[in-house]
Amino acid sequence: MSTESTAGRNSAKLSKIRTSLTLQLKEVAGERERQGLAVYDFGLGETKGALADHLRAAGEEAFRSQDTMYADPAGVPELRDAVLNWLGQSEYYQRENVIVTAGAKPSIFNVFLAVCNPGDVMLMEGAPWVSYAPLAYCTYTTPIMVLPLEKKEENFLKVTPEDLLRNIKLRPHARLFLLNSPCNPTGQLYSAEEIDALLSICVEHEMYFVIDRLYWKVVFDGQAYPEPRIDEKTKPWLIQIDGLSKNFRRTGGLRMGWTVGPADLIKQCISLQSHYTSGPPVPIQRVAQAAITAAYDNEMVQDLERKRNLLYEGAKDIPHVKLFPTPASFYSFWDVSGAIGLRTPEGSLLASSDDVASYLMNSEGVVTASGTGFFQDGYLRLSFHNPEEVVVEGMAAAKRAFEALT
Ligand code: PMP
Repeated sequence: MSTESTAGRNSAKLSKIRTSLTLQLKEVAGERERQGLAVYDFGLGETKGALADHLRAAGEEAFRSQDTMYADPAGVPELRDAVLNWLGQSEYYQRENVIVTAGAKPSIFNVFLAVCNPGDVMLMEGAPWVSYAPLAYCTYTTPIMVLPLEKKEENFLKVTPEDLLRNIKLRPHARLFLLNSPCNPTGQLYSAEEIDALLSICVEHEMYFVIDRLYWKVVFDGQAYPEPRIDEKTKPWLIQIDGLSKNFRRTGGLRMGWTVGPADLIKQCISLQSHYTSGPPVPIQRVAQAAITAAYDNEMVQDLERKRNLLYEGAKDIPHVKLFPTPASFYSFWDVSGAIGLRTPEGSLLASSDDVASYLMNSEGVVTASGTGFFQDGYLRLSFHNPEEVVVEGMAAAKRAFEALT
């Protein structure tokens, strides 16, 4: 057996998985910067700016007081309670309905492991966030993307009740439907009515409705986050995923997330977690507690709304690009299918959105995430959590690159 290839030596399930695309982008941008080249980094979806003083102080205090021993694998009790207050759901749930995890990713993975058997199917949106499918593969579950029958101009790629029902009919044994609102990568926000219709279908078909609401504070134009309906009917089937990484500045590396759901399912997630991480680092749980118990500072969201507008202003006249509105999150999703089939000034053919993304980066230093990472060739995702000048100059650079295509 060859020692070069892992084929046959390592697990078949991992052979389908590559390192997270968005984390790879961070490396590429860093390499260009080291070479002194211009970089407009719209790649990684990370909150930037300064960590708030009270979060720093909470971390420092945790270490000073040596709050560093093993804790409850479900998370420290104060944080589990705080999560329910943060979500405004203390009247519906208790501590036993909450598990705290090392980022939202393990929250999602715990749920997949707890709900799915090998060979099961799970349903998700048409442009799923990069890690959903790999995590499904790790549980020997097949992810099925729920796509509209026709490409729509409005509500681009949003799952409608008809889409969901059609897919449930085709796969009656699907275990869960995973919805991401606000959505990474499309920037879509489902209305309360839309969520309710999808949730009701799941309840009726006794299928879990998993809502990843990680960006729920980042909602623009004065809108409030449309909450899922919580009552005795929905509670057995509703699972919510949330965390620290997207609603506060510079918190991605803290690795803190949580799941709220039916107590029996949460109990299984806790048992599982007790065997592999024993819960997230305790000092970081104290930081999370400080973050979500303080009044929410809307400054970052207002700042992002300005940047969204700047990006639109700079991008609206770029040839071969169709923009979709971003009512929430910090992503702009571009339809660049008009550029596919064109040639770069060097004569290379752009055959996919991977090619478009490489061309933008190599020609003008504009880093984007190719739609192929989200199962949607023909699209690019741009994160606008960036300094203003990066947004403005980056759009000018992207425009130059698209204008040079023939
Ligand atoms: N869900 C979505 C939709 C995300 O965008 C991300 C992070 N990019 C995650 C989950 C994972 O979040 P975390 O970094 O907290 O693990």
